Amino acid sequence: MAKERTYTNLIFIVGLSVLMLVMAWFGYKNIKREIELAQIKSDFVSNVSHELRTPLALINMFAETLSMGRVKTEEKRNEYYGIIQQETERLSKIVNKILSFSKLEADKWKFNFAKTDLNSLAEKVYKSYKFHLQQNGFELSFEPFIGTLEVNIDSEAVSESVINLIDNAIKYSDNVKRVVIRTGRIDEKVFIEIEDSGAGISSEDQTKIFDKFYRASNGNVHNTKGTGLGLTLVKHIVDAHKGEIKLNSKLDEGSVFRLIFPVDQIS
Ligand code: ADP
Repeated sequence: MAKERTYTNLIFIVGLSVLMLVMAWFGYKNIKREIELAQIKSDFVSNVSHELRTPLALINMFAETLSMGRVKTEEKRNEYYGIIQQETERLSKIVNKILSFSKLEADKWKFNFAKTDLNSLAEKVYKSYKFHLQQNGFELSFEPFIGTLEVNIDSEAVSESVINLIDNAIKYSDNVKRVVIRTGRIDEKVFIEIEDSGAGISSEDQTKIFDKFYRASNGNVHNTKGTGLGLTLVKHIVDAHKGEIKLNSKLDEGSVFRLIFPVDQIS
């Protein structure tokens, strides 16, 4: 009887120990996750503050200089007005990105699908971005697919994705400043892609960059301002179209982000 009781007690003690170990492991996992979340949150707040501070400081400085009448030539005045306008646009882009993200989180993002020619959409973005890129020392080219690329998409949302990709191409290209917008068709799918010859992304980071708030920190990249939300929004938009994103990138050589949409979505 004593032997049996010892045996039962032993099983009980082993069982209890295992249970405690499992609980400790879950506890550890939870605490680790909480710490990571707190870190991500504080990084995000500091990243956004940095992103907002630069344009605000520039607007303040140039507006003050203009209002004090210190700018003597018309040419200089126009240049300063241009900077104020450019920085205001940058500010509204950041705010819009955060608003889109909060819509996404609240599951309140509504898409308006309509038949759209992807070539025209790409050309529109190309034309409105050409000047901006050239001013920043970039060579921007457009290589459209020869033929029609009609597809059922939310053109505003897809344009927003393409603009996010172009913004990233600009931000992460320090040496070779070359961006290509390309459209194409493969079987029953159409695509629009943005190619750059910039920093590139390591294969390890390629799986993480679409996560919310994630920012890769290799080379100069961590010096570049950002919220870590752009690619999260792009992925959400492409998913809503039942499409896919293909990323082809090599560190220090550049990246190609291809957004692929199924044609049979056309109603
Ligand atoms: P953000 O640019 O605001 O940090 P994104 O979600 O747009 O946020 O991008 C996430 C990360 O992916 C960036 O921080 C950067 O490390 C990497 N990345 C995105 N696009 C490129 C690109 N074209 N070239 C190199 N790295 C890129």
